[in-house]
Amino acid sequence: MAKQYEMLVGGKWTKARNGATRDILDPASGELVAKVPESGREDVVAAIEAARAAFDHGPWRKTTALDRSKLLLKLADAIRGEAKMLAELETRNCGKPLAEAEFDVADAANCFEFYAGLATKIHGETMQVPANSLSFVVREPIGVCGQIIPWNYPLLMAAWKLAPALAAGNCVILKPSELTPLTALELARMVTQLEFPAGVVNVVTGPGAGAGEELASNMKVDKIAFTGGTVTGRKIMAAATSNIKKVTLELGGKNPNIFFADADLEAAVDGALFGAFANQGEVCSAGSKLLVERSLHKPLVEGMLKKIPRIKLGHGLTAGTKMGPLVSSAHREKVEAYIKIGQDEGAKLVCGGKRPAGKEFERGNFLEPTIFDNVKPTMRIAREEIFGPVLSVIPFDTEEEAIRIANDTEYGLAAAVWTKNVNKAMRVMQQIRAGIVWLNTYHPTFNEMPWGGYKQSGIGRELGLYGIEAYLETKQMNLNLDEAPIGWY
Ligand code: NDP
Repeated sequence: MAKQYEMLVGGKWTKARNGATRDILDPASGELVAKVPESGREDVVAAIEAARAAFDHGPWRKTTALDRSKLLLKLADAIRGEAKMLAELETRNCGKPLAEAEFDVADAANCFEFYAGLATKIHGETMQVPANSLSFVVREPIGVCGQIIPWNYPLLMAAWKLAPALAAGNCVILKPSELTPLTALELARMVTQLEFPAGVVNVVTGPGAGAGEELASNMKVDKIAFTGGTVTGRKIMAAATSNIKKVTLELGGKNPNIFFADADLEAAVDGALFGAFANQGEVCSAGSKLLVERSLHKPLVEGMLKKIPRIKLGHGLTAGTKMGPLVSSAHREKVEAYIKIGQDEGAKLVCGGKRPAGKEFERGNFLEPTIFDNVKPTMRIAREEIFGPVLSVIPFDTEEEAIRIANDTEYGLAAAVWTKNVNKAMRVMQQIRAGIVWLNTYHPTFNEMPWGGYKQSGIGRELGLYGIEAYLETKQMNLNLDEAPIGWY
């Protein structure tokens, strides 16, 4: 029988008040994996009250940075101790190949460890001010933080949100995607097995419409942190105006992967495929807009077509699988609609574009890795975030043209440049308007370094020192050293 989960509110496992549940399905097989509460606004309000009580009156505010650090280290150890279960559950819930899920779980543990280290390094500052004053800056937690995460990296996104918030001393309400809540609920269970006071970490499951909206608009939430689509990000930002919440947004991208003629061909082929198709292309930073200098165009496309059969589709738990199903049938339909748009726009479909044939694929949301060649920068498939395994190849003639096409987007999350010429690399990397630019590689991110977007790819930065900044208030304490009245009047 499928496991029935409850959610964590104020240190207690609870069902949705209206009794509603949601079936969580394996996107590769359609099988029922688990049932979770389908919370409504009233459940989220209860979680907010619990977080508020824990922050305003609970023992958490009095814990030392060292205690918080130790707790986060224990949480990292707990994740490592159950890494196998977490990776398998992640694969069964969101479809990604097990090797990718294993990487995510390890990275999530590392993220908690990194912020455990930073918890004890939060510090203020002093500056010389006029002699009758002593003025200094202290850093304090923001308070109650709502955190809304998507379905493509469920555990890792939970770690990116929880680790810096807790290190800084905040209380949180985490809402995973309605499609992929399972590893976040397991993480919540690990939290209850450690000495976190009740109400410090709350995990509510439920839909964005309702549960998510409540978190974004509720007057008692001090900060909202969101990762997901730009359309939703805009709504969250608008809802957050209710009480002028602090807002961080990590949104979408249409990320240029730029190949110059002198790039190493073999590395280029690998980088192009990995950039576009890792995690089924369901990545905000996917290199889905490939720009290639004219003389490398044919060899690069031929190289990709030769290698693409190696991207073996299958259930993420089956050995040898390199690409799993898309997260839901609705999402696959959205991606398929873009494939139709690409064909109607006149781009040349050179591989994929359809559901794979075979019995093992019948019940899952599988889609073949798809490449469009001779794409024009004005086409919708070159401009809009598809969030699936669809790559658009655009040839270019000059460095200036490549930079222009790369920057001709409302987004600014990620980009990569492939060349052996260091001067050219630096020229281009400096001119790309994006939060991260890789040289001769694609996708590596580090807990130690900031992550976030220019333009409509978001507001603020996660990870690194920037990540903890986003969960801290800044207070100036000013002391009058004179005892005499100021005598102004
Ligand atoms: P969303 O942006 O809608 O979902 C992300 C999270 O926001 C989920 O937890 C969702 O809840 C929640 N949410 C949805 N609507 C609201 C709302 N009005 N108020 C508060 N929270 C809300 O992503 P989708 O799953 O719908 O995907 C849509 C597109 O977004 C994708 O096709 C892709 O282009 C992009 N996307 C980008 C991601 C990124 O990492 N940048 C990640 C995921 C998607 P729930 O799912 O529970 O309803």
